[in-house]
Amino acid sequence: MYHRIGHFPVRMPSHRGQYCDLPRFRAQMAMLKHAGFNVVSLDAVAAGLRGEAALPPRAVALTFDDAYVDFLEQAAPVLLEHGYPACVYAVAGMLGGRSEWVAPEGLAPAPLMNAAQLREVQAMGFAVGSHTMSHPRLARVDSVERIAGELGDSKKVLEDVLGRRVAHFCYPYGSHDLRAVEAAAAAGYVTATTCQRAVATPADDLLSLPRKAIHQGTTALGLWWKLIARNRPKGVPIRRAAVA
Ligand SMILES: [Zn+2]
Repeated sequence: MYHRIGHFPVRMPSHRGQYCDLPRFRAQMAMLKHAGFNVVSLDAVAAGLRGEAALPPRAVALTFDDAYVDFLEQAAPVLLEHGYPACVYAVAGMLGGRSEWVAPEGLAPAPLMNAAQLREVQAMGFAVGSHTMSHPRLARVDSVERIAGELGDSKKVLEDVLGRRVAHFCYPYGSHDLRAVEAAAAAGYVTATTCQRAVATPADDLLSLPRKAIHQGTTALGLWWKLIARNRPKGVPIRRAAVA
């Protein structure tokens, strides 16, 4: 789980999980190759975890939350160099705007990709997924109808923009509950990702997949260690009762 990629003050005072410096990102991507990791798409993850297709050894999927302009300018060229797939999660109600939701936390909002830039990202071969309409903490949203709208409307908006099915979703702040997972299913998403820290296994619900967070202090070796450590999700992962 990455957020922003670029050039930042050496030690950001807080929210270091938002930042990855470009030289470090380059080193991490090179490490994946040298250490024998195989970077796969979320479609491949879904097929692999469902047992429909074999995943290569040490399979890793790369995700970029919020769809910042710096994905296009900084991360994409490095990913293309390596031929790595990735999924970028866009906030459908804020395309071309700024990440205003970070302001209450004392951070400077950063530019988000607009529709044309998302189409460019898609044309490069990357997947564009949804990150809701307005970036709420879904578990704190009272109205089930609003949750359904955040997931369903954002899917439709992005499908209109991209001219292609949007199959992947990411819960803002990792905030999700059973209502949100069921809304993801009702909207027709294939995968949805959380901030639960673990390696995904076939036992996981595809609509609440764990991830490993990368932050500004994560070196290439640090990433290696994060990927090797299997961890266990904190608490009981949310999963639907009737998942086949
Ligand atoms: Zn986000």
